Amino acid sequence: MIGICVLGSTGSIGRNTLDVVARHPDRYRVVSIAARSDVAGMAEQCLRFHPERAALADPVAARELEQQLRAAGSSTQVLAGAEALADLARESAARVVMAAISGAAGLPSTLAAAQAGKRLLIANKESVVMAGALLLDAVRRSGAELIPIDSEHNAIFQCLPPGWQVGRRSAGVRRLLLTASGGPFLDWPAAAMQTASPAQAVAHPRWNMGAKISVDSATLMNKGLELIEAAVLFGMPPADIEVLIHPESVVHSLVEFVDGSTLAQLGSPDMRTPIAQALAWPERIPAGVEFLDLLKAGRLQFQAPDLERFPALALARAAAEAGGLASVWLNAADEVAVEAFLSKQLNFGDIPAVIAAVMDQFSGGQSDDLAAVLAADAEARRRCAERIAAPRPLNGIVPGGLAP
Ligand code: MG
Repeated sequence: MIGICVLGSTGSIGRNTLDVVARHPDRYRVVSIAARSDVAGMAEQCLRFHPERAALADPVAARELEQQLRAAGSSTQVLAGAEALADLARESAARVVMAAISGAAGLPSTLAAAQAGKRLLIANKESVVMAGALLLDAVRRSGAELIPIDSEHNAIFQCLPPGWQVGRRSAGVRRLLLTASGGPFLDWPAAAMQTASPAQAVAHPRWNMGAKISVDSATLMNKGLELIEAAVLFGMPPADIEVLIHPESVVHSLVEFVDGSTLAQLGSPDMRTPIAQALAWPERIPAGVEFLDLLKAGRLQFQAPDLERFPALALARAAAEAGGLASVWLNAADEVAVEAFLSKQLNFGDIPAVIAAVMDQFSGGQSDDLAAVLAADAEARRRCAERIAAPRPLNGIVPGGLAP
């Protein structure tokens, strides 16, 4: 029996992970689960999977969970506070840790799992973007196994020759081709995108995901963060990573080799495939997904991204080229801007403008110690919040005052 710890269990990746695990009760056992504050979701998962421990980062929510579980006769121990998440990631009963907490909040627990030498299934792309060097160093020192869950990076992982080492460019690889669905605004004119609503931005045509990543998909910042993630995980210079718009989301990414071969991984757009692949690797297990019907999929299209309507992608590439703390700043500014957009304090079209304004203030620095990373993260968040609150027009529209 393989013990599993799921960090971010009530989110989209967490639920999909538990769905795959539940299909293989003879093989996997849920040892611990953790989330931010979803009491009802956690209570349901505790009563279904009977983990030894469950943690909620929000202490008030944790108390409520404790009461509900005791009332239901559950013996799951409840932990409270953000530090408890890292404790779960380290615990010895879990051989596999799914790091699926969204945003910078996932960094400490992801690092803890890497330091503890686990098989680390990494869905928390922000920790790779913010602290790639630290994460790779922890993986190498502890002998942890890192397998990417992001569908594109998992596709690349599947296409690379055996023996790939995280952070090292595989011999014979010429380029990586990251596919992007293009999100809900792929064919929208710029003027309509400017004032698109949160509901429109979150309605992704192919993937069903959390709010933050859905907005990132709509701006293409998600692909930008994935470009940085790919550069870190696969040891590739950003210039050797191309982004292709592929609206059907059937080809999840491709690897081009020096001999002219291009290998791709294809499948239905369902996160249970990369999750099952990473859980069982190098074996294969059923994931409950619909099998790909190429005849039904029909024509597969590929096009270059429009950097004028999607400037976030260019901002991310520039941050990847700059290296060091630039991606920390980019990630922090994006999180603050997306949050402001979701709470209707910022127009959709101003998200990249605000991030660009913050990046203009970036003054350099290396990302090789955690304190520097966290300080840069806080600094960029502060500057981004200031920028959003400032009564200065961005693209002619005053932030805080929504366009009609
Ligand atoms: Mg992805």
